[in-house]
Amino acid sequence: MSRSDRLILVAGGAGFIGSHLCRILLEAGDQVVCVDNLQTSRSSNLSMLTKYENFEFVQADITAPLPSTITSRTRQFDRIYNLACAASPPRYQADPEHTMLTSVVGTDQLLRLAEASGARFLLTSTSEVYGDPEAHPQREDYRGNVSCTGPRACYDEGKRAAETLAFDFARSGRAEVRVARIFNTYGPNMDPDDGRVVSNVICQALSGNPITIYGDGSQTRSFCYVTDTAEALRRLMEVEEIGLEPVNIGNPHEMTVRELVDLVVEMLGRPAQVRNSPLPEDDPRRRRPDIARAKALLDWEPSTPLEDGIRATMNWFAHEIGEDPRVTAT
Ligand code: UDP
Repeated sequence: MSRSDRLILVAGGAGFIGSHLCRILLEAGDQVVCVDNLQTSRSSNLSMLTKYENFEFVQADITAPLPSTITSRTRQFDRIYNLACAASPPRYQADPEHTMLTSVVGTDQLLRLAEASGARFLLTSTSEVYGDPEAHPQREDYRGNVSCTGPRACYDEGKRAAETLAFDFARSGRAEVRVARIFNTYGPNMDPDDGRVVSNVICQALSGNPITIYGDGSQTRSFCYVTDTAEALRRLMEVEEIGLEPVNIGNPHEMTVRELVDLVVEMLGRPAQVRNSPLPEDDPRRRRPDIARAKALLDWEPSTPLEDGIRATMNWFAHEIGEDPRVTAT
């Protein structure tokens, strides 16, 4: 099969990571159909993609029956990526029932489509399946410490159920599946109002507003630049003979939230005020991926240095929110 003969469905393709993945696939010559409900995407993400003639957009929500433009195609899909779900805590907690159904009903529908098409299916799962981890760094065989009743459960448990569905389809020979557990990711195409730490801190710093640190800022995360993440997903989809194994995708460089804030402020070169507010319920204390499996299977590891990634992200946000991009020229 030549690359240009391939038809690929990307659910959530207008979103933050999805839009970068679509661009990689489109530039490789694949035909890409993006299905997205536009819940958390920016119109600029979509307009970047509609410039490609091999791109098609279908507005739909994967919790509803899939539209006939997708299910009744004369050509069948070769690959189906599922990146559809709000991923920022305030966004996914705003409608928790919809969040859970997006992962469970949406993934089931896309798996059935993969079965009917003979497509290979990739689920984007999350480091949230490890909850507030007792094991550190997190390896794929760690079973996690997740609350099934707390405010994050709609996302965490939805993704855990989606993984179960994907591996059951694979186990029973109904579809070939790949499962990526994506850790914190940042970069251009994030929504400035997304509510996650990188977008909040950069936009607050750029616009001269106090920077919000939840808790004392000693909690850790490990931030991966979005183009590194998107490339890992493409490689994971194409790797052969992976078995029933999820793969962590993230950057093992761990830092505290406070260190992230200090870096952004230092790079911006302006004094900034910090405001501490209460740590949200069930906020994981620390998070760092073990990426040995991704390195071995995909010959992949993140290549974008944090400062380069933060600088590119600052410039992008400066443009998006209309602040002076020269402040990020250091
Ligand atoms: N956080 C923060 N200030 C913000 C947004 C988030 O201190 O304005 C903290 C949050 O409590 C968490 C970490 O930053 O400890 C990462 O939060 P984010 O929402 O980006 O992602 P999470 O990894 O929690 O899903």
